[in-house]
Amino acid sequence: MSELHKFIFEGLPVRGMLVRLTDSWREVLQRRAASNDAFPEPVRVLLGEMAAAGALMQASIKFDGALVLQVYGDGPVKLAVVEVQSDLAFRVTAKVVGEVVPHAQVEAMLNVHGQGRCAITLDPKTKFPGQTPYQGVVSLHGDQREPLQKISEVLEHYMLQSEQLDTCLILAANDDTAAGLLIQRVPVEGAGNLGQRNEDEIGLNEDYKRLAMLASTLTREELLTLDADTLLRRLFWEEPLHRFPPQTGEDGPHFACSCSRDRVGRMLIGLGRPEVDGIIVEQGRAEIGCDFCGTKYHFDAVDVGELFTPTPQQAPGSAAIN
Ligand SMILES: [Zn+2]
Repeated sequence: MSELHKFIFEGLPVRGMLVRLTDSWREVLQRRAASNDAFPEPVRVLLGEMAAAGALMQASIKFDGALVLQVYGDGPVKLAVVEVQSDLAFRVTAKVVGEVVPHAQVEAMLNVHGQGRCAITLDPKTKFPGQTPYQGVVSLHGDQREPLQKISEVLEHYMLQSEQLDTCLILAANDDTAAGLLIQRVPVEGAGNLGQRNEDEIGLNEDYKRLAMLASTLTREELLTLDADTLLRRLFWEEPLHRFPPQTGEDGPHFACSCSRDRVGRMLIGLGRPEVDGIIVEQGRAEIGCDFCGTKYHFDAVDVGELFTPTPQQAPGSAAIN
């Protein structure tokens, strides 16, 4: 069962989280394979790591809405997307346009010409009029303009740049499990600094540095195979670790897609009647597959006719009379 574990280090300005996507991650891959469109192995690893990271980021900011990680690539992978809702429902997809070589990393997949970008969008569930989603964008390079090879490094960079948070992120994924460990310095807010985040502490807090160092000894293999108890004990047995009850099942990370026939219908209306009629004439029906979950929606000539017939506006209460 997929699970999310939160913990703090008592008396220290550091918190952590561990996520393991198991059944939910396998469902994502099975759905993709079932529609005969499996991603190449390096893309599966990338998406698994992004899914784990997205769950960790959503759980750490507790945002009421969707957190969307999008990497726009200039190489064989044009786009990789992970969306995580506040209830930790997640879905992923990617657009692969060229050959992805075995074991390709971020640069070879997404940043061949140095133009790759990673966007983090926070899309609130309820918006006030005119409100647009918040978006932060970072390049796929480090401070010395060196191309980054791991998505964890890109996201650490983002957290530091835009959130002023020291963050250590360790991610790994295979076809069984997608997992991540996050260690983060908690901004100290209090009377002494008038509620301001203590930015002077960036990169300087000794407790954070020690705990991040311990976390960074974790191997990919350990992260993918060890259960949470064993993993946290092994890393932090000398530290004042305090754990909270794990989130699993419906409260934990789980796969869910928000696509619907209604939304696909609205998308077709957006295309315009001539375009959609053209598809019907050519193919007999329009088939639209969801890139995230693989569900196929079919619209025949009758459906299309209904779609483009405006529904008559009913006066309040008129439905009861009819
Ligand atoms: Zn879907």
